[in-house]
Amino acid sequence: ALRPYVVGNWKMNGTRAMLAEARAIDRSAQRLMKVEVALAPPFTLIHAVHKEVEEIGVGAQDCHAQGDGAFTGDISAAMAADAGATFTILGHSERRQGHGETDADVLAKAGAALDAGLQLIICCGETESVRDSGNAVQAVTDQLRASLPQTLESASEKLTVAYEPIWAIGTGRTPTVGDVESMHRAIRALLIDRYGETEGGAIRILYGGSVKPENARELLWAAEVGGALVGGASLTAESFMGIVMAA
Ligand code: 13P
Repeated sequence: ALRPYVVGNWKMNGTRAMLAEARAIDRSAQRLMKVEVALAPPFTLIHAVHKEVEEIGVGAQDCHAQGDGAFTGDISAAMAADAGATFTILGHSERRQGHGETDADVLAKAGAALDAGLQLIICCGETESVRDSGNAVQAVTDQLRASLPQTLESASEKLTVAYEPIWAIGTGRTPTVGDVESMHRAIRALLIDRYGETEGGAIRILYGGSVKPENARELLWAAEVGGALVGGASLTAESFMGIVMAA
């Protein structure tokens, strides 16, 4: 089985002053080899973090769906790979909500990222009103069905799914372990349906949303949880490694 995977999403945080944290995370990850650790810094730091670390993975937070062209301000998957990224996060709720990204956009970006040799972390998650209406599993599986590539060779090596309930991101609130498990089981069934028992059964499904050292153990040890996608608590080596150690 693949190792548990703990990924720090730095979002729009970090200048070169943060490289010391990346180095500290890398050093302590070298002593915790049973967990796969990675950071997704802003584009501007990908190359510098890549140069700074030896063990951990480095990735992007997004990429454009086209290979190149007149897209002012955008970054292609090949550019991210050239800077040192080996994966990209796609379809984060902050991209879906703040930049109007649709499932079809996420799917197109996934194709571009795979063409550039990047692995994928594809995000999904429901709003609070959808959760309250009792339709979270349906909404999230619909979202994933439309965002994930139809076919994918060696899917478990190339694809990770991150379940991030939007109401849990940056709020300090988390779902119950039971709610995480039923969502992850539904996602697992979808992955097996699409990619087959072996590959679909091995794809890691991360939980994200207010993961902290204090709650990491119960969330990370829940059924079908293969790791965590961490925002705020990934910004210091101390809190991030507290989560890695719980995995
Ligand atoms: P927080 O860990 O800050 O809640 O963010 C989660 C997230 O969105 C990671 O992608």
